[in-house]
Amino acid sequence: MEKNMSNKKCPMPCQEPNVRNKNFFEVALGYTEEMAIEEAKRCLNCKNMPCKAHCPVNIEIPAFIAKVAEGDFFGANEVLQRSTSLAAICGRVCPQETQCESACVRGIKGESVGIGRLERFVADYCREHSNASSDSIKTNKTENTEIKTEEIKTEEVKNEEVKPGNGIKVAVVGSGPAGLTCAGDLAKMGYSVTVFEALHKAGGVLIYGIPEFRLPKDIVSKEIEKLKKMGVTIKTDMVIGKVLTIDSLFENGYKAVFIGSGAGLPRFMNIKGENLPGVYSANEYLTRINLMKAYEENCKTPIAHGKNIAVVGGGNVAMDAARCAKRMGAENVYIVYRRSLNELPARKEEVEHAMEEGIEFKLLNNPVEIIADENGNVGKMRCIKMELGEPDASGRRSPVEIKGSEFDLDVDTVIMSIGTSPNPLIRSTTPGLETNRRGCLVADENGKTSREGVFAGGDAVTGAATVILAMGAGKTAAKAIDEYIKSKSEK
Ligand SMILES: Cc1cc2nc3c(=O)[nH]c(=O)nc-3n(C[C@H](O)[C@H](O)[C@H](O)COP(=O)(O)OP(=O)(O)OC[C@H]3O[C@@H](n4cnc5c(N)ncnc54)[C@H](O)[C@@H]3O)c2cc1C
Repeated sequence: MEKNMSNKKCPMPCQEPNVRNKNFFEVALGYTEEMAIEEAKRCLNCKNMPCKAHCPVNIEIPAFIAKVAEGDFFGANEVLQRSTSLAAICGRVCPQETQCESACVRGIKGESVGIGRLERFVADYCREHSNASSDSIKTNKTENTEIKTEEIKTEEVKNEEVKPGNGIKVAVVGSGPAGLTCAGDLAKMGYSVTVFEALHKAGGVLIYGIPEFRLPKDIVSKEIEKLKKMGVTIKTDMVIGKVLTIDSLFENGYKAVFIGSGAGLPRFMNIKGENLPGVYSANEYLTRINLMKAYEENCKTPIAHGKNIAVVGGGNVAMDAARCAKRMGAENVYIVYRRSLNELPARKEEVEHAMEEGIEFKLLNNPVEIIADENGNVGKMRCIKMELGEPDASGRRSPVEIKGSEFDLDVDTVIMSIGTSPNPLIRSTTPGLETNRRGCLVADENGKTSREGVFAGGDAVTGAATVILAMGAGKTAAKAIDEYIKSKSEK
């Protein structure tokens, strides 16, 4: 087959910046079949597969891309499914540029192969053209599939991949990518899995954090439906540590527990004025918009519509908050970040999209105080200019204040997006569960914690990280749980 030797990726069709910054529909529209085949032909199918080694779940990347190049999209999906059950999600949100694509040989002299774009194409194509085409997903819409809040016991489906049920109960705490992946893998092995989720909807950050315009919620809901069809039970509104404890799960007959409770506790700067009305954590702001749909008229938990909004931070979460703020009608949205463009931790594509959409980047600036207006709400944010000094422990040049360079930014809303850590509820209600000084659960490379039968993974262990790492941890833990349960029954 003739290779496509273009040094550039086939461009991704997107909504126009000035159109999309006023709606919540998906920004990137996805490849057509022709585009996908053309892009797949750029892959050199390297024998040593450096891209695979850089994928946290070891997807056989050249093999799935070869199938795309042949036009065998279902064949490509089969290859993907061997390593990931969340391809439509990872194809959209994974930081491919620092993982698989960073190792792509085509990236040496030009742009790497668009591995993420192809992964997304295959997953979308197969979902939309599967037997159940009647319920195929239209990605460009905002209506979300409701997940019932009551206990949902789902039908067992005939699925070749799922072993017959062994009746052994395993509990999964949290329904983010770590919990969902662990639950899916255990269900395939025949375990009777129940996922306990604190919120009224399953999906973790995929549902409450990442906005609709980056990851349509129908796609996440569809993945959760798939799990339910495999026999996984999902119980929502179940805060473990309050409604039930980890210990009571064992008393209720669960033989092992996986904790994938994420890192949802926001950090603040502890500066003066941070408690004023009009200051949000990015988590609260995004939850109100994404989970509670504050962009819809008559929503149950409305949000104040700021005119001038500062988002403090430079990660993916900050970009999402800023882009949501713009879509909610703010006239001026600023990213206030204490380092320079080179150090921005957000994905390059997200930064570019934010810039195109009119977000203003105030780099090398740091807030020192939030000042009230005459009504006691946020009126200004005092910032100080920064310069870059010597590299710090992270290897990045550390920001240093420029004395006397303070200035005021006129804002009515401030969104703090400077990081999160795990919520202390589970660790404080589970005796013997070891945590580190950052409040993260301590687990070995297989997800085993200091408590027998308790495994953990994802952001709850690593602190805020990525979807694919959380998935990888869920996968590893599922294997370890299976081995643990088998070793117990042999004794
Ligand atoms: C706004 C935002 C944008 C992001 N963008 C990207 C991106 O583009 N690419 C990327 O790779 N990563 C991104 N991330 C990071 C990524 O989403 C996380 O690393 C990933 O979701 C972690 O998965 P998890 O399963 O460990 O935890 P989570 O997704 O946080 O899920 C944990 C779940 O556990 C539940 N829970 C917590 N405590 C309890 C309890 N006591 N009882 C029961 N349930 C509980 C929570 O409600 C939640 O549903 C983003 C994160 C945010 C916040």
